Amino acid sequence: MPPKKELQKTDLPVMLTISKVIPEAKNHKTLFFNHKLDVKPGQFIKLWIPGVDSKPFAVSFHKKGSFAVTFQIIGKFTKALSKVKAGDIVGLFGPYGNSFSAKKNAVVVGGGCGMASLSNLIDRLKNPVIINGARSKDYILFRNRYKSAIIATDDGSSGKKAFTTDILKELLQKRKYSIVYTCGPEIMMKKVLDICNKYKVNCEASLERYMSCGFGICGKCAINDKLVCQDGPVFNSKQLSKMTEFGNFHRLKSGRKVKF
Ligand SMILES: Cc1cc2nc3c(=O)[nH]c(=O)nc-3n(C[C@H](O)[C@H](O)[C@H](O)COP(=O)(O)OP(=O)(O)OC[C@H]3O[C@@H](n4cnc5c(N)ncnc54)[C@H](O)[C@@H]3O)c2cc1C
Repeated sequence: MPPKKELQKTDLPVMLTISKVIPEAKNHKTLFFNHKLDVKPGQFIKLWIPGVDSKPFAVSFHKKGSFAVTFQIIGKFTKALSKVKAGDIVGLFGPYGNSFSAKKNAVVVGGGCGMASLSNLIDRLKNPVIINGARSKDYILFRNRYKSAIIATDDGSSGKKAFTTDILKELLQKRKYSIVYTCGPEIMMKKVLDICNKYKVNCEASLERYMSCGFGICGKCAINDKLVCQDGPVFNSKQLSKMTEFGNFHRLKSGRKVKF
């Protein structure tokens, strides 16, 4: 059966042709699809390579008739994904999950590949302050796309030699913002939450826990009594503040709970 023109949330994969592949930062690529996708900022999709696996990804570019996924090459699936070319076909499941609230007067804090989960949100916000952090200049995502972003690198090779959280603290000390959106390493997001709580600013974080099934069966993306695939991936300050495992424990591929 040919793919439907308008995608709906579906449990059956839709096979899509890749229209373009571009290298992003070091070890990162973006795949473009000329296809209409009904997705809200924060929701995730699953890409499927038959015979390899299916894994969750954010939508990093979203226009009327096209969308894209930006990924970091870290394991078996993303290595296979890094080899696909324009014209190749991959399967798509979703979109799934909840979304960011997209409020005015926002600060967006992205760490590493977390920027991929925030970019679709940034594109819908009015003049957000963007803090884009990476370990070094080679790993900065979307540098030319968000020219006004405050860049923070661990080694000072670009922008400020600082953590994103140092910059966030400076901003919140100076003026009142209505919300902080974040995605990146969980330890960074936990610090973002703590700073937001201190300055009484709401926060929403997209959690990128290891996810296997993506539909609430395997429990590998569990954090306290929540499942990232079913209850998230976006959680607010109130929910995050109650999660004792947030920034403290995560689960391995096997499901075993370990300290960060
Ligand atoms: C909602 C959501 C959105 C995501 N969006 C993106 C995205 O836009 N771009 C992107 O590059 N990635 C994204 N991810 C993460 C991506 O799905 C995983 O990194 C995926 O496991 C990669 O598959 P792999 O086979 O290449 O590597 P794997 O073999 O699955 O992982 C390689 C190594 O990294 C570890 N690992 C992988 N993911 C995690 C994790 N979440 N927490 C802790 N350790 C982990 C594994 O334990 C393993 O040691 C997202 C995840 C979620 C849940």
